Amino acid sequence: MFALKNVNLIDGTGKEPMPQCTILMEHEKFKEIGTDIPVPSGAMVMDLQGKTVIPGLIDAHVHISGSSRLDRPGMSHLVPSYDFAEMREGCLRWGVIAVRSCGHFMEETLVFRDGVNNGTIERSPRVCLSGPMFQSRGGHPCYTVFMSDPEVEQYACAVIDDDTQIEPIIRQSKEQGADFTKIFYAHLNKMDYPNPVPRISKQKLKEIIDISHQYGLSVTVHVDCPAEMLDAVQYGADCIEHMIGAGELENKISDELIELTKKSGAVVDPTMISIKRFDPMGSAPSIWDAVKEAVRKCYDAGIPMAVGCDAGIPFVPFGEAVHDEMACLNEAGIPPLEVIAMATGGNAKLLKMEDHIGTIEPGKDADLIVLEKNPLEDIRNTKTIQLVVSKGKIVTDCFSDK
Ligand SMILES: [Zn+2]
Repeated sequence: MFALKNVNLIDGTGKEPMPQCTILMEHEKFKEIGTDIPVPSGAMVMDLQGKTVIPGLIDAHVHISGSSRLDRPGMSHLVPSYDFAEMREGCLRWGVIAVRSCGHFMEETLVFRDGVNNGTIERSPRVCLSGPMFQSRGGHPCYTVFMSDPEVEQYACAVIDDDTQIEPIIRQSKEQGADFTKIFYAHLNKMDYPNPVPRISKQKLKEIIDISHQYGLSVTVHVDCPAEMLDAVQYGADCIEHMIGAGELENKISDELIELTKKSGAVVDPTMISIKRFDPMGSAPSIWDAVKEAVRKCYDAGIPMAVGCDAGIPFVPFGEAVHDEMACLNEAGIPPLEVIAMATGGNAKLLKMEDHIGTIEPGKDADLIVLEKNPLEDIRNTKTIQLVVSKGKIVTDCFSDK
């Protein structure tokens, strides 16, 4: 039994914090939580007077093979011992206990995910994986940021033309154990801005979404502008990634699009930090104000929103980026309590893991972060991490550094 006493608890449901709270953990789960709970004798007790506790965080958009591939190609895919340590340690250091990977080398990442799920890989956040990245021939990302790398094309992407048969790709993806489908429906060329790249046709977009749904896979769509978002929402996307890409000058989200998105039930995952780090793009003016406005509009309309970072791309590090993304969402006008609920209880729903992670409630996995300072006073205080507990075990301890 492990007991934390006198904490200021933010439980991830969006409820107001509970001061002077006791949290009991046993067998990797939360057992009891409340202000009036006796601590059983023999329990390991920490008195955390003045500290705040939040649930373990979740990153709704990473690329597990990401930065390793870009920075150190020799370490991924063909090296069987490569163990994603950068992602695992970055996440756990910063209290990120689950990730949703939106594109990666399929084979090695599926093996890794299965190892995490069956407990043979212990020190890792939980993992939710897309199938291969659907994209057009000549399009983003294989032919832009990955510079036509044949390994990326073969092992991480499903490059399609207008006559490609979609069903066999999705059937295989489902059989391999992908958790959802990822589509790039995007014209922005991040390597040769502002010249656009080809994107998949509307007809193919619809086909991929429909067939994925037939196979029980939800669909997330990378878009870079409102027109692309409109198509994705109208054809039944379950989640929208990015919304507005860095450098996109057609960046005003209309009230009509907000209305349609709200009606569709799609989640919006704006990945603000990944846009901010590349803004301004090329010779274009900054689009940061437009991004904030779009995020604010979605929030005000009550559209469900995810907290994703695109961690794994350059300048967006695993783990720490979630804190930076939360600060961006707050800068766009979302209150800290809501931002924390989005990054924990809300993201858990997107990963379909809400039955066991995301909130600090009895019966759920014991994942939490002890903060020195209160994040409701300043969202950047989520970085004042003193302790991270995942599945009832201490995985990061900054107390002993002091
Ligand atoms: Zn991405």
